[in-house]
Amino acid sequence: MENLEAVLFDLDGTLYDYNKCHEKGLESAYEYMEGKYDIPYDKFIDLYRKARFENHKELVGSSSSHNRIHYFKRLLKLYNSKFKSDVVLDLYKAYYKGFFDGITTFKGVEELFEELVDKGISIGVVTNLNSRIQIEKIDKLGLSSFVDVFVTSEETSREKPHSSVFLLALHRLDVSEEEVLMVGDDFEKDVKGALSVGIDSVLLDKECEYGESSEQFEVVESINEVGELIEKVFSEN
Ligand SMILES: [Mg+2]
Repeated sequence: MENLEAVLFDLDGTLYDYNKCHEKGLESAYEYMEGKYDIPYDKFIDLYRKARFENHKELVGSSSSHNRIHYFKRLLKLYNSKFKSDVVLDLYKAYYKGFFDGITTFKGVEELFEELVDKGISIGVVTNLNSRIQIEKIDKLGLSSFVDVFVTSEETSREKPHSSVFLLALHRLDVSEEEVLMVGDDFEKDVKGALSVGIDSVLLDKECEYGESSEQFEVVESINEVGELIEKVFSEN
């Protein structure tokens, strides 16, 4: 690697525990639903999964494929209810109320960002999903002041692993692919996507599912290890 000028980070599952927040979001949405309709939790989750599946199938590759407003609109339809704007909006609000309740970064994220800023390395966030909600996440995580460039798939209309998200980040940072490192928790979307445009990658594999590093990309188990890796790359130059 030449001079390291910037590090790109995925957001969900890389900077904070997405699964935990999502679970809390679903519980909160269910609490609202239960207050309105006589529906057991299992049935609610089943309808949510069906709604998500349908939405993904129709909108695959676009940020809208993950938009919860579509999921809840479809969920209501699958529940054989007519369209009700207030219920759709309230489900969406309840989901994100639960989702954001106590959201916090993974241990070591702030320290790593501080270290990068100290070294003069820029920070970019490249993420799939619509801008409105992803910006709220970075805001609630308190990371906004560290981030130089923030790119969502809604802005490029194509999702990672598509090159457009990565190329837009390079353009906005005014750096070349050789000067950047990508860090993400999804092998297909983050690692393969970045590699396809020539960006070296680090897979954050918290559950140790993936295994060994290869010549093309590194595998780490924690954000602290990302810091150590960057320290190594930095000191080599
Ligand atoms: Mg992710």
